[in-house]
Amino acid sequence: IFTVVNQGPPVEVFQVNKAYNDDPSPKKVNLSVGAYRTNEGKPWVLPIVRQIKKIIAEDVTLNHEYLPMLGLDEFTEAASKFLLGNDCKSIINKQYFGVQSLSGTGALRIGAVFLKTQMNRNIVYYSNPTWENHAMLFKHSGFEKTESYRYWDNKTKSIDFQGMCQDLENAPENSVIILHACAHNPTGCDPSKDQWMALSKIIKEKKLFPFFDCAYQGFATGNLENDSWAVRYFANEGHELFCAQSFAKNFGLYNERIGNLTVITNNKEAIPILKSQFQIIVRGMYSNPPCHGARIVSTILNNSKYFEEWNSCIRIMSERITEMRKELREKLENRTKFGTWKHITDQIGMFSYTGLSADQVEILKNKYHIYMLKSGRINICGLNTNNLDYVAKAISDVI
Ligand code: PMP
Repeated sequence: IFTVVNQGPPVEVFQVNKAYNDDPSPKKVNLSVGAYRTNEGKPWVLPIVRQIKKIIAEDVTLNHEYLPMLGLDEFTEAASKFLLGNDCKSIINKQYFGVQSLSGTGALRIGAVFLKTQMNRNIVYYSNPTWENHAMLFKHSGFEKTESYRYWDNKTKSIDFQGMCQDLENAPENSVIILHACAHNPTGCDPSKDQWMALSKIIKEKKLFPFFDCAYQGFATGNLENDSWAVRYFANEGHELFCAQSFAKNFGLYNERIGNLTVITNNKEAIPILKSQFQIIVRGMYSNPPCHGARIVSTILNNSKYFEEWNSCIRIMSERITEMRKELREKLENRTKFGTWKHITDQIGMFSYTGLSADQVEILKNKYHIYMLKSGRINICGLNTNNLDYVAKAISDVI
């Protein structure tokens, strides 16, 4: 009976990562998958996370009973406060709640299903370009139209803000607008504060629904408040919104699948009703979420000493990224005689949109064993003091 099934297309980032793993070359460099690496090119379990895992493992009062459908309360509560800050209007007025999710992807997914099934929303807009999963995720949640708004201007290597505003102004009322809270994936270019203010105005006037995607809080600037400034601003401006949070990158908990959907509503009385519908969505999808990642994150967020230790880890990661950006730009400017590499240091977060073409990416893979997405997006964390010269030389050669 399965002969009716056709081969599906591969998912690029997993495909490139596998090609890298299968490549026997000692020179190979992986700039594809969005995961932090140390200067030795190794994954990093944050020391504070390792410590908390031990504490959890030895705590005989803990067990493996099911969590409630919406997750561990002390986690969702702390996660929403982490995002919004204790002085946010929505927090003070208790006009928010969180739903524990299967990482950031799961938060987007349950949010999308809610918007489709409970609010009859059918159109979603995402930036062009965006994280490759946005369109599929909303389609699979039942959205009839997935559209893009202008975002990246390849000529200036920065945001086409005028184009973005025009597209949002022309979006039909009730459209869902995905906004990257910080460290835009893949371009590394975020709107300025003034631009966020203008976007807030358009979104409010045009009755659009802002759905923030916050996968890199802490990675963009090393400062949590800065990195969620836009979400906090929208909340304080009285927007009702969703924000999908991922703890994959900032806690290094990629495979624990720990995330949170923060919901902000201006009608506090509606919260039990909204929660009841999220419970039904979760029940029908996976019944209830896993606990381990939620325990780790909530233990850290709810203890000021642990939180400080985590903060120093996030600074180590974001500072290494900044340093690698600086050095890559310097080396490219020394080697290549034309073009500008300023965008490498202007962009923030894990990713950089290099401006390399698909053909150049192909040569980098075949000739130099350097792996990246065909859009020219690189994960800056894949760079280190041992491979920087090699990568800069290879890039200048293909150019
Ligand atoms: N949104 C964006 C923009 C991302 O880059 C990612 C991670 N690549 C995610 C969401 C979700 O990641 P995860 O499900 O692993 O938390």
